[in-house]
This record gives sequence, structure tokens and C-alpha cells, in this order.
Amino acid sequence: MKIDAIILRELHLPLVRPFETSLGVTHNRRILLAEIQSEGLTGWGECTAGERPFFSAESTDSAWQVTVNELGPMLASEAPEHGGDCPRIFRQVRGNRMAKATLENAIWDIEAQREGVPLSRLIGGVRDAIPCGVSLGIQASIPELMKIIEKELAAGYQRIKLKCKLGWDVEVFERVRSRWPGIMLSCDANSAYRLRDADHLVEFDAFDLLMIEQPLWHDDFYYHSMLQKRLQTPICLDESIRNRRDALASIEMESCKIINIKLGRVGGFSEAIAVHNAAQERGIPVWCGGMLESGVGRSHNIALSTLENFTLPGDVSASARYWREDIVEPEITVSSAGEIAIPDTPGRGYEVRTDLVERLTVRKETIRALELVG
Ligand code: MG
Repeated sequence: MKIDAIILRELHLPLVRPFETSLGVTHNRRILLAEIQSEGLTGWGECTAGERPFFSAESTDSAWQVTVNELGPMLASEAPEHGGDCPRIFRQVRGNRMAKATLENAIWDIEAQREGVPLSRLIGGVRDAIPCGVSLGIQASIPELMKIIEKELAAGYQRIKLKCKLGWDVEVFERVRSRWPGIMLSCDANSAYRLRDADHLVEFDAFDLLMIEQPLWHDDFYYHSMLQKRLQTPICLDESIRNRRDALASIEMESCKIINIKLGRVGGFSEAIAVHNAAQERGIPVWCGGMLESGVGRSHNIALSTLENFTLPGDVSASARYWREDIVEPEITVSSAGEIAIPDTPGRGYEVRTDLVERLTVRKETIRALELVG
């Protein structure tokens, strides 16, 4: 496919309510969107980097810079046939996976439209609907959290995940479990603990948690494998898994029993599918994590979650939980059974509201092919 234009934008989108994790509080999202035009088709990608380099080393600004100066010109100079060609095109650039995923996922979107199939089918997805869970940030008080859980369960969500840290863990789990003994409950520490907290983490085993996500260092396998030996609760790795090799290492070392796959964290669909396949072959279930995406990134997550080994409910939930007005239509909704139905139209299946995107845009750059020297 010939790349006619790559347009990178930054949008400002206020969250309906602030989202707090052990890493800090997010009030507004600075979202980068890539719009790629090719032979009459338009593909969209979203960058999942945070405003600051806290979840990973990437940030909105670093992703902007590396996309405008490096990745965008590399892609514009090539004629990729498939989304799967992007890792080769970007191979000289190390890391910067969220920036790479922004462009690669837009190419997969175009490819699906060109083939006239839903993106979910293009990548080999097998589901017509995906099970949904919610990720609940750290709240000001336990009664406030209880009110929110009640609302999310009434809306149909199949799994409740609680962000946790020292001081917001055992007591919270106790209260939630005593009120709802049977719900699917998990927690996510975003690296809030150290190995010296192992005795404390063993107490989590009393609450029948589906998993504890990334309890220790963001880049670790070894100490997680030591901790997993002491815990009955399965460890799920998120931040540590950057690619298929990391997935294989963590499985081999028994650092985790579950893997969270995020498109941005692993660099796009090619690597996400490779991680999925590696885990599936070794009997390790996966699920799709969220990064406070707008409808564009969310639609990519929905397609990814249709792969066979996404057997656990993901953090892919309704637009209205995050945004007063999402930038796609129809907005993403979750049924009373806690599922999102998979669109059957070619591509991502959700139209981008270009008028609204234009209104929310605070900076915009058109990226051109590398100049030929000589
Ligand atoms: Mg996580």
C-alpha cells in the first residue's frame, strides 16, 4: 500500500473522573492519534503513552518526537503490504514501543478495510463478543469504593479489579469480599511492593483473588518467580512483558501464571499476537489491559481480545466510564451480560468523529517521506 499521508495529532480529553493508581493520579488525557491515508482508505492508531514517563519510559512528548522525527518518516518512505511489515520498517529504533504501536495499528486497520474484513477476523480472532471487567482506581474511602463496585456490578461487568498499594489492600479486600463473596476479584499493584513485603502479600491469599498484577519491580522476572513460590494467588505480569521473549522467560521461570497483553506496551499487533501465541502454546491464559484509551485505542483492544487465548475478562469497558463524549461512533457499550459485541464491518468497526477530533486537536503535524539524499 502506498502511504499518501501520516497526520499526527495531540488531543486533550478530560476524564469523567480522575483515575488513581500507585503511580499517581490522571485527570486529563493528552492523546496522540495517527491518521494514515493510503489509496483512498484511512487507518487510525492511538498512542497509549502516559502524560509522564511513569508507567513506562515513554510519554506523550517522547512519543510525539520519535514519531515525527523517526518512525513516521520511515513508514512514509515504505509501501508496507501488511501491518506485520512494520516491525521490520521500525527495526533501527530501539524501544519506543507505544510510539511504534500507534503507527503499526493504523496500518492493520487499513489492511482490514482493504481486505473487506473486520480487524478482529484479519488477526485471527474467533469471538463474536468479549467478556468485560473494570479497573477501579484508588478511592478516597472504602465506602466510596463500595458504591462504585455496586454500580459496576449492576451494569453487568464480570470482573472487578482493584488498584492497590500499601495502606489500600488487605482491609479493602476484606470489606469487598465480605460484601460480595462470589465475584471475580483481582488486584493490580503497578509495582507498589518489594520482596520484603512478601509476608504481607501472602495475606492476599485469603481473598480468593483471580490474580495479583505486577506486585514487584516493573522490569523484573526473577524476584516475581521467588514471590510466586510463596503465593497461592496467581501473579499476572503486565509492565515486565515487552515482547514474546519476555513472555517465554517469565513462563519458563514461573514468574507468573497469567499475562496481561497491552498493544502499546509490546509495540503493536504483530508482537501482541506473538505473545498471545507463545502463552497459548504453554497453557498460560491472557487478557487485555487498558491504558485510559479513547474509542480509537479501545477499538483496537476489542479486536485483540477476540483471539482464542483471551479467556479472562479484560479491562476493555464502555466509553461512558471514561469520557463525556467519545471520539468514535457508535460509542463503545457493554451489554447487561458484561460483554462487548464485536463489530462485523470492515476495519475497526467504529467511525472516528473527525469534526470532534478537529475541535479537540491542540497540535497537528503532517509527516512526509524521508528525503532521498544525493
Ligand atoms: Mg496493570
